[in-house]
Formats: sequence, structure tokens, C-alpha cells
Amino acid sequence: SGARVRRARNTKLPQYLERGIDVKFSDVAGLGKIREELEEIVKFFTHGEMYRRRGVKIPGGILLCGPPGVGKTLLAKAVAGEAGVNFFSISASQFVEIYVGVGASRVRALYQEARENAPSVVFIDELDAVGRERGLIKGSGGQERDATLNQLLVCLDGFEGKGEVITIASTNRPDILDPALVRPGRFDRKIYIPKPGLIGRIEILKVHARKKPMAPDVDYMAVASMTDGMVGAELANIVEVAAINMMRDARTEITTDDLIQAAQIEERGMLDRKERSPEMWKQVAINEAAMAVVAVNFPDLRNIEFLTIAPRAGRDLGYVRMKMDHVKFKEGMLRHGFYSLHITLIFLYSFKLNRQSLLDHITVQIAPRAADELWYGEHQFSTIWAETADNARSAARTFVLGGLSDKHYGLSDFWVADRINDIDSEALRILHMCYDRAKEILHQNRNLMDAVVDILVEKKSLTKEGFFKLVELHGSLQPMPPSV
Ligand code: ADP
Repeated sequence: SGARVRRARNTKLPQYLERGIDVKFSDVAGLGKIREELEEIVKFFTHGEMYRRRGVKIPGGILLCGPPGVGKTLLAKAVAGEAGVNFFSISASQFVEIYVGVGASRVRALYQEARENAPSVVFIDELDAVGRERGLIKGSGGQERDATLNQLLVCLDGFEGKGEVITIASTNRPDILDPALVRPGRFDRKIYIPKPGLIGRIEILKVHARKKPMAPDVDYMAVASMTDGMVGAELANIVEVAAINMMRDARTEITTDDLIQAAQIEERGMLDRKERSPEMWKQVAINEAAMAVVAVNFPDLRNIEFLTIAPRAGRDLGYVRMKMDHVKFKEGMLRHGFYSLHITLIFLYSFKLNRQSLLDHITVQIAPRAADELWYGEHQFSTIWAETADNARSAARTFVLGGLSDKHYGLSDFWVADRINDIDSEALRILHMCYDRAKEILHQNRNLMDAVVDILVEKKSLTKEGFFKLVELHGSLQPMPPSV
């Protein structure tokens, strides 16, 4: 009777079961003390009877908290692997359905399978997708989610303290979970998994290197040092990409160089994914757009090749990239603002000495500051433009020292204390003049600015063709030579 029904049910293939989980704690590196906490969870399975006899309550749910890619899923699997129990998993985003009732019935099915195949670990990825505080989402989507969450609570309560089904959930946002979820008997144990430190990164790299043909002298420390802020998933990826590198060159060993190259590629990707608030994206877009919009008004500088606000390795901002026909720069020097004091000096002393084009450069560099004032008001404090404003400041000084201003100072004046003040105030005058000019150009090209900013915010970058199309549509280019 009862037993037969049970057997009949078991013939249905469990759809949430992951077979052949063969992960052990030794596959998860850089855990430090967290490992002990997880070993205890394994004991809930292997020594459950002992806990129960001594009246120690076994938690129904464990919450693994931490950013994506730190190994939460891997750890949940390792718990199942070490305990030798079944592993059922689902991503909470799969619970969230449009049709009322679907999510709740999936939760029921998941737990039914887990119970029939107990002992087992139920792993719920991205719990916050369904576990956000109830009532926060309006409309039928919210209703559906609330129903799903309620069902989950019921299922969690069903196993409390029994130790045959333990739920492990992962989230990056424990703070937004519905309070009912973290009540005693439910997810009452939180384990925080931080990003790995230097030693952790070395260990993780080594774990992933285990199955790869590494050169004997690989310098893991070098690779770990340059991957500050990266998580296990990214480090695992670095080893994979390094292996591909090796294959491409038809070599037989992965070298430190392969790893370093792979780390650089990964870093670019990582920064691209870095989160910014919508307001921040917009500020950076205004910053970059301002330089491009002002530059396009100047004959020497209008050769804009590419605009981006995607963060790049080592930079928080984006950059505007320009080609200057008469000067060959290394690409690195073109980054963000395309010129610095060095380039200013090159301009002055190595190339055609052109007073107007240097003023134009200063105007471009100060443009982000001017845009900040126009868009956010005079007293809004932002530091986005600090770097280019610095460039503008030193360029203005160079302008004066180079004898290009009406008042003639030479480099020798630079060493005379009271002359320095004069030089500075003259440089400041130049700077202010360029600032006003930038403001005027930006003001005149407000429509163009808006269009460029909108596209940058949406697409993160703009090609040469795309930019000049906008210039054609919205620009009002009127170079206004200043009077110095
Ligand atoms: P999360 O669930 O936290 O988003 P995952 O467990 O899915 O992260 O990690 C993805 C992959 O990254 C793992 O399968 C593993 O290859 C690698 N990884 C992440 N963290 C670690 C770690 N601490 N040790 C070894 N590998 C790791």
C-alpha cells in the first residue's frame, strides 16, 4: 500500500536532481575558517543522530552570502559531495513566473523530490530573486512571487530540525530578504563568503592549475598580485584562457606569461561589468561627451575616432580617442583626454609651435569641468573632471612658460619666487578664458551634447561614424577664436 505508492512515485525521474556531483572541499580553495563551518554542515548529515540525541537543533536552511563567482554554488556541491548525499538545485529566477501558481508548484515539486531521495541538499541559487520582502512588487508579478515565497516557507518549515533535507541558498543581497525567510528554523544560519585575498587567490589559481600542464616555474604570486578584487570564477577563467593561449602557440606548458596575459583580458572584462549607478553613468557620459563636443569644434582636434564610457583597466572613467594627423602618439598616451603635460611639451618644443591649437587643447581638457557646471550647477561638487582639469592647468602654465601668452615669461622665470606668482595668475587667466569658451561651445551645442550623452549612457560607446552623424544632425559648430 503505502510502500508501493512510494516506489511508484520514485520511478518518475527527478528533474531537479544533479547527478554525479563529485565536488570535494579540496576543490574549493581560499576558504580559510569558513571551511570549518561547512564541515559542520556535512556533520549534520553524517552524524545527524548524534546531534539529535544531544538536543542540538539542525538548521533547516543555510544562507551563503557573497558576490557572484566566489564559489557559493561550488561550496554547496562540495557539502553534498563530502556528505555523500543527493544534490537538488534550482535557480530562484526559475521560480519567478508570470502565471500565478507555477512558481509555487515548482517549489513543491523540488522539495518532494528532495524528500523522496533524502538525505539531500537543496540548493537555491539567487534566493533574492524570489525572497525579496513581500508586497514590494505591485501587480500580478508580485502576487505570483509572494505565493512562491509562501510555498518556500512552508517547505522549509516541513524539514526543520530533521536533518534529512538541508536547504542551502545563495544570495548577494541578504539585506533585502523577506524577514520571514531568516526567522529561526528557516535560513537562520548565514555564512559570508568574501572575495579572496592574495593568499586565497594563489590557492584558487593552484586548484585550477592542478589538472593543467603548468610550467614548473610558474609564478602564482605574480598573477595573484595583479588580480586584486577578482573572484574564483574569474581566476578559474584565467587558467582556462592561459591554456588556450598555450594551445594556440602549440606549446606544451602554460607559462607565467600566459597567465598574465589572460589576467589582463579578464581584468578588462571585469571592469566592464563593474556596477555604476545610472547617475554615475550619466556623469561619466557628460564628462566624455563634453571633450568630444568641444574638440570637434577645433580643426586640429576634430579627428575623433572613438568614444567610450566603459571602464577600462586601471581607469575609472572612459576615454575619448582622437587621431592627430601631424603627431604620432603611442596609444597609451591617448587614453582619457588624449594628452597630458608630456604631450603638451612635445607640442611646444618638438612640433609646429601653434598657439591656437594649444589653447584649443586646454579648452578641450577643461570642458568636462564646464559641462559639470552647466549640467549640475556651479556648486555641485564632482571629481570626475579632476584629471583633465589638472591637464588643463599644467597646459596653461606651459603655455605661459613657453612664451605664448602676451606677457612674456621664460623658463628661467620659473625659478624666481615672485615671478612664479605672476606666471600662475597669467596661467589662471588663460585657463578661465578657455573655460568660458568651453562653456559657450557646450551651451551652443546643447542638443548635440544631449544626443551624445543619451547614446553613451545607453550603448556605452560611440564610433566615429556614429559621432559625426550626431554632429551633422545636432551640432552647431562655430569656432570662436579667443582674444588673449
Ligand atoms: P557563485 O555561486 O558564488 O556565483 P560559483 O560557485 O558558481 O560561484 O563559481 C563558479 C566557478 O568558479 C566554480 O565552478 C569554480 O570553477 C570557480 N571558483 C569560484 N570560487 C572558487 C574557489 N573558492 N575555489 C576554486 N574555484 C572557485
